[in-house]
Amino acid sequence: MLRRLLVPILLLAPLALLGAYLGGALQLPPRWDPRAPLDFRDAPNLMTGWKLARMEWEEGACAAAFAASGLTLERLPDRPSEVGCPLENTVRLAGQGARLQPNQPVVTCPLAAAWALFERHGLQPAAERHFGSRVTAVRHLGTYNCRNVYGRAEGRRSQHATANAIDIAGFTLANGREIRLPRDWGSEDSATPGTPGGFLREARDGACRWFKAVLGPDYNAAHADHFHLDRGRWSRCS
Ligand SMILES: [Zn+2]
Repeated sequence: MLRRLLVPILLLAPLALLGAYLGGALQLPPRWDPRAPLDFRDAPNLMTGWKLARMEWEEGACAAAFAASGLTLERLPDRPSEVGCPLENTVRLAGQGARLQPNQPVVTCPLAAAWALFERHGLQPAAERHFGSRVTAVRHLGTYNCRNVYGRAEGRRSQHATANAIDIAGFTLANGREIRLPRDWGSEDSATPGTPGGFLREARDGACRWFKAVLGPDYNAAHADHFHLDRGRWSRCS
């Protein structure tokens, strides 16, 4: 008898739970609720990547995440483009504990959200682990640039053409130490604690969790002096 009921129960229980969730009878904690705004302060879980991805098609989801995280967001006006370089849903990238140098650049809101997750859950833990210090400044080489990939005359538009990418060249720690590309890349692996090269590799690997393409010195010579981070469709981590 029980065995005959087991299959229907196993089939119906998830549907009943889904119905209860959609009907509002079942409340999930916000960090596990796929419909709740992302809070960058929460420990990342299986929902975090989904909530980040959702920002690309759900209007307002990105701004809601900044509000839920207690962060101010400077939104910038949309700017259409006839040559494939529109600025849409862009903001000024401020950073949380680490300020952006030489300025706060324009980026898409989803890229700013990926940055918030990277800074909190990738970059700062890497700096703490390697140097017992925090990153106070990040030096960037730019975000928005109306051009094709590698600046070629032909081919597809770069993610920089829509401010959906940022190039990073170095970091300043609270103890004053400067870590720079390409000078500090060296040959260490990320498991070697306290080394600039180890820190840079761990930061790069941490970025791969939140950005789609992460390209650095291991990728090719064109990226020897910076990390390229973007939220485009093409995934690559090297
Ligand atoms: Zn780039």
